[in-house]
Parts: sequence; structure tokens; C-alpha cells
Amino acid sequence: MSQEPPSFASDRPRRTSTARNTPVPEAKPLARRTKRPAPGIVSTTSSGGNSAVGKRKAAPRKKARATKKDRGQGPETEIEMEEVDDEGNPIDPNEPRYCVCNGVSFGTMIQCENSENCKYEWFHLECVGLTDIPARTTKWYCPNCRQVLNIGEKGEDLLPDPEIRTFITNFYRISDKQDSNELWLSHFTEDAQVTMGNDTGRGPQEIRELRSKMWTVVAERRHVVNKVFPARFQDGDSECEFMLFGDVHLKTKEGKELVVPWAGHAALTQVADGLKKEWKFSQYRVWLQK
Ligand SMILES: [Zn+2]
Ligand SMILES: [Zn+2]
Repeated sequence: MSQEPPSFASDRPRRTSTARNTPVPEAKPLARRTKRPAPGIVSTTSSGGNSAVGKRKAAPRKKARATKKDRGQGPETEIEMEEVDDEGNPIDPNEPRYCVCNGVSFGTMIQCENSENCKYEWFHLECVGLTDIPARTTKWYCPNCRQVLNIGEKGEDLLPDPEIRTFITNFYRISDKQDSNELWLSHFTEDAQVTMGNDTGRGPQEIRELRSKMWTVVAERRHVVNKVFPARFQDGDSECEFMLFGDVHLKTKEGKELVVPWAGHAALTQVADGLKKEWKFSQYRVWLQK
């Protein structure tokens, strides 16, 4: 749901012991995933998205290759599989990989609208069940990002209110910035209740204290929201409740890096701010996987 990168972290680090509050030199920002180059010549589709013509027409084939290996007792032949293109030329193993298939660029490829945060960015049409670049007015999101962002197959918004997406996106973006405490606090109602682990705070002052505790051992963090499940939405009292799941990439002040899965429960309510209404958390609770 958020614009944060859906990392779907597969390489969970081992648990580390609780870090102590040891001052260390200023850490470098956490490395963000590097962006892949476009897989070919890019053109803009009728829906404003991008498509590209891949480097080659067809998918590479696997071809057996015999290699001689000297193993003391004279040469031995080994069979290795290698990827070759339509003309039989081997594929450079360092060539960028795309798509759910982790393949190299070929054929017509489509870019996910959430490309900034998409795990794959570019997709072979056939790998995402398309025969043609969609000629519709809606933007195309890949199956993963649709899940994360609560977007339907036809690009429709599955959230009860699109403003909620913006609210949550901004909240986690700000949440990762240590110098944005007051801005972060503005996301809560005056009597909001926040629970983090075993600590609960109610109202701005207590929530402010909770917030400052988060940075005692952590030097840097980056939230990734993997899924938001709207749990209840009532038109009448403008209450919305949902569960959130994600990972947080942490760097402790001791310089340890780890990825910790988290779950959250939030209740949102609309608060009048002058003439406009704004979403705010009335309840927010987060659990970190220990
Ligand atoms: Zn593919
Ligand atoms: Zn995507």
C-alpha cells in the first residue's frame, strides 16, 4: 500500500542480540535497491505507462555445453547448461534480470506503474498473462504491487478511500526520519493510543516519548509495507480499521543491519482541519517479530 519498496524480504537475517546503546560514528544511509536499466527502447503506452522492446525477440533457450575438465586422470567431459539467444550466442551472466521469471530482456516488456518500489520493475507480457500492452486508460500494476497497494486487476482502487493510501505512505516515510518527530505526531488524534511492544502511550506527550525511545538503539530504519488489509469501514462514523504487515530494515547504532518483520493494527478517523477533513490514527499498535 505504501510507496515504500515491497521487498518481500526472502533473506531474513538471523536474530541478533539486543543492541546496546553505544555511540558510533554517523552511519551511511541504508542502501536502497539499485534501479535496473530499461530493458530496451522505451515507448509510452496509451495509458501513460511504459513499454519496451526487449533486446532480443524470443526467450533464451537452455543449451547443453560440453566442457573439458582436467581431473588428474586425463581430461573428462562435463555437460553444463547455458542460456543462449535465438542465434545461439551465449547470454552474458551479468546481463540485467527482470520479471517474475528472473529472465533477461526479450520481446515486448511492460513497466509496473509502481516502478520506484517494484521488486521487478519490468515484465515480459506472457509472464504476467498479457498478450498485448493493455490499451486502457488505467495504469498497469504488476501482480505483486497490486497486492501491496490494494489495487484490483483492472487498476481499480480496492481501498475504502484513496486518501488512506496517501496517509499511510506519508506516515511510514516520515516515521523513518528521526528529525520529523512533530510531523509524525501530527498523524495521531489528540487522544490517540499507541502501543509499541509493551509500551503504551496516550495523547501527544506520551506518544512523543514512545517515539523518542524508538531511536535509542536504532540509527536508521526503513519501513516496507507488504500488505494492508482493511478490516472494517463504516460510512457513518468515518472510522476505518486495518491490519498492516511489513518489514523494517534497521541499522543499529552499533552498525548491525537487520530486517525485522512487523505487524500493525490501526484505527483511522477523519478529523476536521479547517474546511478539509484529514485522516488520523486514533489507535495504532505495532508488533515486531522477535
Ligand atoms: Zn518473464
Ligand atoms: Zn510492480
